[in-house]
Amino acid sequence: MKEDHWEKERKAMVWEQLVPRGIKDERVIQAFLKVPRHEFVPYPDREDSYGDFPLPIGEGQTISQPYMVALMTELLKLQEEDRVLEIGTGSGYQTAILAELAKEVYTVERIEILLERAKKILRRLGYKNIHFRVGDGTLGWEEFAPYNAIIVTAGSPEIPQPLLDQLEEGGRLVIPVGDRYSQVLIRVTRKRRGFKRENFGPCVFVPLIGKFGWS
Ligand code: SAM
Repeated sequence: MKEDHWEKERKAMVWEQLVPRGIKDERVIQAFLKVPRHEFVPYPDREDSYGDFPLPIGEGQTISQPYMVALMTELLKLQEEDRVLEIGTGSGYQTAILAELAKEVYTVERIEILLERAKKILRRLGYKNIHFRVGDGTLGWEEFAPYNAIIVTAGSPEIPQPLLDQLEEGGRLVIPVGDRYSQVLIRVTRKRRGFKRENFGPCVFVPLIGKFGWS
């Protein structure tokens, strides 16, 4: 498939799906115009890569809908010098978006085959600021904590305590919280004393499976 075909699809995704629904951070918009989402979508669904829906990536998992990736990214309010922890690498698409916007990205995935696939694609695309780990992301990644931002791309019954503990003061954590089949998108901001919690409406994610998630 010719590159300008994908570029056209990417522009349509940004201007017809993301911007009309309220995505306005210029850096976020530029990242979505740049990252080749189709590279992260396995065949036979590749032609639908820029559609307004999630797609299967194997192992019963999904690459999230473009708007949901954009909304969660915007809510993180990333700065160029930020270090961000991502739980649920999946296809690696969200990871690439984060790598465009932050200084270092630490990403954790529990399914090794997905992590290896994402790593291969991200290395081929030239990303050098991403650190990969296979394991239970509900425990966070203590070694490199605290983080300026944490994003969880799977639905959890509650907010895992280790992730709150690994958030820097002023740091933002975005996570879907609810039951197995429907959640609400929550942003938690760490204040000098305690946490501020905001609700950004309903969403549907695959379950976060681990010690501080679903069993
Ligand atoms: N952001 C991803 C993308 O753009 O492709 C979508 C990720 S998918 C909706 C959620 C991912 O979270 C799955 O790959 C799943 O295996 C992973 N996951 C679930 N529980 C996890 C855990 N405890 N630790 C790390 N990853 C987990």
